[in-house]
This record gives sequence, C-alpha cells and structure tokens, in this order.
Amino acid sequence: MAESAYDNLLDELEKLPGIGRRSAERIAFHLLRQSAESSVHLANALTRFRTNLKVCDTCGHVTESDPCPICADPKRDTWTLLVVEQPSDVVAIEQAGAYRGRYHVLMGRLSPMEAIGAGELNIAGLLDRVKSAKGDDAITEVILGTNPTLEGDGTALYLAESLTQLGVKVTRLARGMPVGSSLQTVSKAVLSDAIQARTQSAS
Ligand SMILES: [Zn+2]
Repeated sequence: MAESAYDNLLDELEKLPGIGRRSAERIAFHLLRQSAESSVHLANALTRFRTNLKVCDTCGHVTESDPCPICADPKRDTWTLLVVEQPSDVVAIEQAGAYRGRYHVLMGRLSPMEAIGAGELNIAGLLDRVKSAKGDDAITEVILGTNPTLEGDGTALYLAESLTQLGVKVTRLARGMPVGSSLQTVSKAVLSDAIQARTQSAS
C-alpha cells in the first residue's frame, strides 16, 4: 500500500539536518493550520532554489552562475581571501561594502559535538586554492572570519595551523565591543579582543 501523504511528508522532512520525528510533526501541523497557498509557496521556493542555485566551484558560495559573480569579478583582489562559515556571512560582509577581496565558504565549522570534522567542510578546497594560486593571482593573505564562538574559534585555530604551513599570512577579523553593549555584559573573550584590537581615538 502506498504511503500516506502525511507519512511521506514526515519522511522527507526527517531527512533534513536537525529535524527529528517530533519536529517533522510540528512542521506538518503548522502547514495544516496555514492556508493551502502558503504550502504551495514553500514548495515553489524549494523547487526554484534547487533549480536555479548551485555552489560556486571556486569559493563554495551559493550562486546562480558558476563561478559566482564575486569570483568572476576582475576588479576584486585575488590576493586576499576571507574565510567564512556560511553563504549568509558573505552576503552580510558584502552589504557592509568594506571588503574588496574574495571569499571561501566552509559550509559550517568544526564541531566535535556534532561529529563535524575537516572532511565535512570545504577545507581541502581552501588549502588547494591557496597552494595552486600562482604568480599575479597568488594568495598572500587569508583572513579568518569564522564566528566568535567556541567552535568558530576552534575552526580558526585549525585553519591557521594548516595555512601557516603553506607560507601564507593568516589574520583574524578583529572583534570589538558590540554597539549598545556594556563592559559588564560582553564575554571575557570579546573584552580581551577589544583591548588588543583597540584603535587610536580621534581627537
Ligand atoms: Zn565563487
């Protein structure tokens, strides 16, 4: 007998990362409470996403063309590479408009708790890229832009070791005091970084 539409949906949802049976049921009931139209929008978004988007072979960013517009842009520096965890990090940095180099997207961070090792991330691609870029296109600086979390810091440490062996300069994004925060509420790591990366006060 064919599987019911309900079970079929639960089976498909459960294949997604972080979604167990209980979450799948919650999503299914949520969709039932919404209009039928909103499910159609979700289905269309999924189809459009999978049909139009791919992963850039060079940097791992999500893109509608391969190479992505950033890798293909001849006006961007080829000698600086900013390593980030997710495509959304590229979007955030691009919106800030202060960076003119290229990117490398890891698609996550090392996480011993979740059994995510170097093989699960786009790390071999990063090392190959640094090794194979030669002449005018040689990469001279890799900026580590992983998130300032325990796992992000661990990933940065791992990458710094591997990259330094390749003779490339490795830097880390500076971490300052978040706007609107106070000295009492920010973590020790943020405070210590803010002191180290202090800047001359404008007079
Ligand atoms: Zn790219």
